[in-house]
Amino acid sequence: PDRPVAQLPVLPADEFDRVTREWNGTGRAYPAGASVPGLFAARVAADPHAPAVVDDDLTLSYAQLDAAADRLTGLLRQRGVGPGTIVAVALDRSWQAVVTLLAVLRCRAAYLPVDPQHPPARRALVLDDADPALVVTPTASGLSRPTLAFDGVDLLAGPVPTPTGPVAPPAADDLAYLLYTSGSTGRPKGVAVRHGALTNLLLGVRDLLGSGPTHRWLHLTSLSFDISTVEVFLPLVTGGRVVVASTVGPLDGAGVLRLVHTAGVTHAQATPSGWRVLLEAGLGTPGPDATGVAPTPLVAVTGGEALPPALARELRARTARLVNGYGPTEATVYATMADVDPDEVTIGRPLPNVRAYLLDATGQPTPIGVPGELHLAGAGLAAGYRGRDDLTAEVFVPDPFGRPGQRLYRTGDRCRWLPDGRLDFLGRTDDQVKIRGHRVELGEIDARLLDHPDVADAATVLRSDADEPRLVAYLVPRAGTVVEPAGLRRHLAASLPQAVLPTDFVPLDRLPSSPNGKVDRAALAARDRTAD
Ligand code: ADP
Repeated sequence: PDRPVAQLPVLPADEFDRVTREWNGTGRAYPAGASVPGLFAARVAADPHAPAVVDDDLTLSYAQLDAAADRLTGLLRQRGVGPGTIVAVALDRSWQAVVTLLAVLRCRAAYLPVDPQHPPARRALVLDDADPALVVTPTASGLSRPTLAFDGVDLLAGPVPTPTGPVAPPAADDLAYLLYTSGSTGRPKGVAVRHGALTNLLLGVRDLLGSGPTHRWLHLTSLSFDISTVEVFLPLVTGGRVVVASTVGPLDGAGVLRLVHTAGVTHAQATPSGWRVLLEAGLGTPGPDATGVAPTPLVAVTGGEALPPALARELRARTARLVNGYGPTEATVYATMADVDPDEVTIGRPLPNVRAYLLDATGQPTPIGVPGELHLAGAGLAAGYRGRDDLTAEVFVPDPFGRPGQRLYRTGDRCRWLPDGRLDFLGRTDDQVKIRGHRVELGEIDARLLDHPDVADAATVLRSDADEPRLVAYLVPRAGTVVEPAGLRRHLAASLPQAVLPTDFVPLDRLPSSPNGKVDRAALAARDRTAD
């Protein structure tokens, strides 16, 4: 009787049960000891001559890929890589990168993708924070860290170095990879993902897509995006084929479609903006192409940002199957998935062994149809942010719906339940945005702007009022200075990825503030475009 009103359950018992238990009845028993190296080894044994990786005019069978990974495993172990170490992989998409990921995991080490396209200051920040035991690069790099360069190594021929003692297969709690993502205070944070979570994701997506030896996956995504793990590992643990897009990139739509066609790709993954590029290049256009053969329709997986209904309709019409995957890096790539109904685009239902809760500000489940913050639980959760226990504790909180010791991840995404148990994505609760598939905290851009000596105050917003969404930086110059866009852009480009650089810089006398004294980004985003 004397409970505070805010803690009274707002849901009738049967609805509470439906949203917390019934729609989270995702439990599925996957083999306890399964891991990427173990599942891959089983495929090597099952069909050693099947093609595993295709990169330009090179094709490696499962047996050849296995031998190459063994050679590299030997070299890595000679360099001290073993259980618990971190190996930075500073490679673009290539068959060598695929070999490297397998070899690192075989050592029971974790890999850290370091995007060669990112500016040097950004790469240095990530390397300093993660402090890897070794950096794998294409050529000697001049880094002041232990490096293994590929130019002096033949992965395809020669003896397989004898390992110095046995390494057990990775355990579910071993770290598989460490992936850096934008931090709101200006410092990227490393999400630490365990083998158990990675395996659970792969087996869940396998079951949803019916993956098997006939599937050929396009590997189009940079290793610094976690969806690349699906393109690389899902085929390798299910007997399929990885088709590496090493000579074409995601912006070259015609080139990608050519590769899809010549390599007989059956499955591809991209952000909605990435799919738009492929549609514009003629994806799934009826009729034969210049070679006289009609391409087989693709299974298209879209993820990383909201899928607009118009795009969903067009994609659905031009593909064999359209699947929407939703998930933050902190919940291991995808947490929910669904075949897309273009008339009602959703992010689907939780994957096997993943649970989803929509909670209000008091932590109570919201009624069906009412927005709440999406919290995720179950096998997909990351271990946390490397070396950042404070940040980890803020967003990985105790799970009142699970067993003692289990955790909930607060995603910062707003969703509502549809009456059939699918989740409708509504937007963010904070200042994290997606621009061309890149996740960025607006606060990180602001922090870099404020590093500039002529900037007194700054706030960046995502404006979606034009055809292409763009980032606009509003700033207050220091007294007596005139800030010049080209200089600011150069300043930001030294530490931020190209895709998240603001396109416009607008000087203001002062930034608008909301009643709580914070910068009013909504007011900035709503400014009349012609005023800028
Ligand atoms: P990923 O690379 O798996 O997309 P990120 O950690 O980079 O993961 O970004 C996660 C965020 O991206 C989510 O919290 C959400 O805001 C947005 N997001 C991801 N997938 C979708 C989707 N299918 N629909 C809407 N938003 C999405």
